[in-house]
Amino acid sequence: MKAARLVFATGNEGKMREIREIMEGSGYEILSMKEAGAVVDPEENGSTFGENALIKARALAEILPEDIVMADDSGLVIDVLNGEPGIYSARYMGRETPYSEKNAELIRRVDAFPEDQRTARYVCAIAAILPGGKELLTEGTLEGVIAHEQRGTYGFGYDPIFYVPELGCTTGEIPETEKNKISHRGRALEMMKAELEKEEV
Ligand code: IMP
Repeated sequence: MKAARLVFATGNEGKMREIREIMEGSGYEILSMKEAGAVVDPEENGSTFGENALIKARALAEILPEDIVMADDSGLVIDVLNGEPGIYSARYMGRETPYSEKNAELIRRVDAFPEDQRTARYVCAIAAILPGGKELLTEGTLEGVIAHEQRGTYGFGYDPIFYVPELGCTTGEIPETEKNKISHRGRALEMMKAELEKEEV
C-alpha cells in the first residue's frame, strides 16, 4: 500500500518549496512537520551530515510511524580548514553572528593559503524513514572555491563566498530557482526520489 504522506523535518519555507518542486508527481501529500502537527528539535550530536539527518528523521518517525518522514543536514566543507565549518556550519562563530562576519573570517583564514587550495563543497544529506522503519540515506554535493570577496544578495548563509567555477559566479549571485537545479540539496533530493521509487511505499 502506498503511504499517503511525506513529512519533512523542517520549518524552513525555502526548503519546503524546493522539496515540493522536486517531489511533485511522486503521489505523496508533502507536508512540513509543522503542517503535520509534529515538531521535533533533537540535539544534533552526530559526527557526520548523514548521522545528523538520521537523528532528526528518527525523532520525527517516532511521532509519525505511519508516514514517510524525511530530514536533511547540510553545510560548507572547506578543504584547507580541515573540513570546517562542516557539520557546525550553522553554529560557526555562534548562531547569532551575522553571516557577513562569518564569511569575512573564512575569507581571512583561507587567504593564508595558496590560490589552488581554496577548494570547498556544499554537502547535503537526506535521511528518510519508511513506515515499518526502513532507513534510506542520500548525499549530494556542489563543488566550488572560496571567493576573495563577498558577492551577491541572493541565497543565504555562505552563498556570497561560495564561487562555482562552472557558473562563473557565487551562489549569492544566482536566483533560488537556478541554484536549486544544481544545489547539493537538489541533488540529494533527486537521489532520494529515485530511491523511494524503488520501494513499495
Ligand atoms: P541545516 O539547515 O541545519 O542543514 O544547516 C545548514 C547550515 O549550513 C546553514 O545554516 C548554512 O550555514 C550552511 N548552508 C547549507 N546549505 C547552504 C547553502 O545552500 N547556502 C549557504 N549556506 C548553506
